[in-house]
Amino acid sequence: MKRQSQKNLCTSTPQNPTLTKSAKPKNKLGSLGRLAAGWMILQTVLLATPVLAQKDPSSLSYGEFLQKLEQGEVSKVELDETNNRATVTLKQQPEAKASKNVLIFERNPGLASKITKSGAELQVKTSIDRSATASILINLLVIFMLLAGLIMIIRRSANASGQAFSFGKSRARFQMEAKTGVKFDDVAGIEEAKEELQEVVTFLKEPEKFTAVGAKIPRGMLLIGPPGTGKTLLAKAIAGEAGVPFFSISGSEFVEMFVGVGASRVRDLFRKAKENAPCLIFIDEIDAVGRQRGAGIGGGNDEREQTLNQLLTEMDGFEGNSGVIVIAATNRPDVLDVALLRPGRFDRQVMVDYPDYRGRLGILEVHSRDKKIDLEVSLEAIARRTPGFSGADLANLLNEAAILTARRRKEAVTMLEINDAVDRVVAGMEGTPLIDSKAKRLIAYHEIGHAIVATLTPGHDLVEKVTLIPRGQAKGLTWFTPDEEQGLVARNQILAKITSTLGGRAAEEMIFGDGEVTTGASNDLEQVTSMARQMVTKFGMSDLGLLSLEGQEQPVFLGNDSMQRAEYSEAIAARIDSQVRTIVLQCYENAKKIIQDNRYTIDRITDILIEQETIEGEEFRKLVKKFSESSPKKLVV
Ligand code: ADP
Ligand code: MG
Ligand code: ZN
Repeated sequence: MKRQSQKNLCTSTPQNPTLTKSAKPKNKLGSLGRLAAGWMILQTVLLATPVLAQKDPSSLSYGEFLQKLEQGEVSKVELDETNNRATVTLKQQPEAKASKNVLIFERNPGLASKITKSGAELQVKTSIDRSATASILINLLVIFMLLAGLIMIIRRSANASGQAFSFGKSRARFQMEAKTGVKFDDVAGIEEAKEELQEVVTFLKEPEKFTAVGAKIPRGMLLIGPPGTGKTLLAKAIAGEAGVPFFSISGSEFVEMFVGVGASRVRDLFRKAKENAPCLIFIDEIDAVGRQRGAGIGGGNDEREQTLNQLLTEMDGFEGNSGVIVIAATNRPDVLDVALLRPGRFDRQVMVDYPDYRGRLGILEVHSRDKKIDLEVSLEAIARRTPGFSGADLANLLNEAAILTARRRKEAVTMLEINDAVDRVVAGMEGTPLIDSKAKRLIAYHEIGHAIVATLTPGHDLVEKVTLIPRGQAKGLTWFTPDEEQGLVARNQILAKITSTLGGRAAEEMIFGDGEVTTGASNDLEQVTSMARQMVTKFGMSDLGLLSLEGQEQPVFLGNDSMQRAEYSEAIAARIDSQVRTIVLQCYENAKKIIQDNRYTIDRITDILIEQETIEGEEFRKLVKKFSESSPKKLVV
């Protein structure tokens, strides 16, 4: 009997259709649960333990159940598929105790037929298994958290490795401004460039004018100029004036880790632009992609070359009259690939240079519009003090002054803040003055040396101020008011400059002796050498004659095929060196002579400087005059 039941249990296959149906959801849950196998195990153990521990009089072991079934004592079995439980109702039992709980095996196809054979009533139900649902929810939550964590890690490492993971997606990296809001009025000081670009506005606004007479509208313009001179601003102003959208991208955005990404960005950009025509594309720092191909140390860069090729293709590909104009900016036109510069691409080149005095005044006016500036402030004076400043420097200068004003709790920016801001922009942050010491004395003599030699050398710029307040790297500073636009500089002026620059070292040597000279003059000497060398090799201002002996310096890494080669013989090189030395020595002698002749004056003014820390130019000249006249030694100016 037992054997038979055994056999029945294992081999019989007939299945109750209801059972199969109800089994389905269970399998589903099972497969879901398996997803987080590790967790599932832990869960089951936890949940199953209390059930095993229960020894309830109302429950029946499986063996007892089978036995009762075979003996025909069972009247009804309710199978609960989800819990693997059966509620068994026995015959000949008082009503209250009739139901027994039986824990049954999970896969047990023979059981159903066994129950029916025994004549008991079979019911199958699927209870909602709370604990199972809860455990599945917990598992899902854990899976979700794991996934979220994984995504975060991937994101982070993607950022770190330069968007390595966004490979192939070519997300649009350009910006589009429907309205730049910049007008030509906001750009000052680069009048020629503005005039040339005025035309582009007409190209964009009224292309018919040109196409009617058969003219082809240029596709590209190249803005060439040092950083901060307003190239980006100018491009925005063109778009603003023409009222067209402004697409901008930096050349470096094209350059990616993977070959082909840059090229697809170029394609994207031009496609978007054509959809929005008329419009203006601005490619900043085009030298990042537009370098000469197949050059440079370490050979070419495939990615960059592909990008550049794509750019060239795109520029050829669109009709000149499609209303898209490309403006590119660079401060390195010399490294650009020639193919970029041929007609039909960036054939027009506009120089955007540092502003001159009038330009600086204009820029200062533009940027002082939105600031509270004291009526006494003279923009002319600032413009005069700031040769060599770019538009961005000037904008920054006014902003620094405004910040200082706010910090000093003043109503409006005064000349004081502006001068402080200039000092800061030019020479760096102000440091704390040295305490009285030998070092301070030496620095004072050094600076006064510069100032007095400059003052007593004809043709030299005026001293603006001498100060012992350190700034940036410098321990003391002598400022000069640059002469009005130094377009052309005379030989005497350069010599005067060399002499005054050597004045600091000359004072150190004359006053403290040969052994006490310091390293403080190293920067001075650098400048002196460069000035003297240029006199010889560039300006034809020496005995070597009217030769230009040095081309433009081009470092090797720029990737020009022709390596820079000295264009003169060894003999000439030696003569250049000796000429440079002669000039510097002569100037040094002159400086020392001035120091020697004015020792009395220098000593007096140095004492004043140590006490005051700063002497303004006007005061300095008065002091020189006063002490020279009272000097026991007759002064020859
Ligand atoms: P670039 O692109 O040549 O490096 P930008 O156009 O970005 O320089 O200039 C930076 C900022 O400097 C501008 O936003 C503007 O505030 C100021 N600036 C530069 N040049 C001028 C100028 N010619 N006129 C007015 N502001 C200028
Ligand atoms: Mg720029
Ligand atoms: Zn010096």
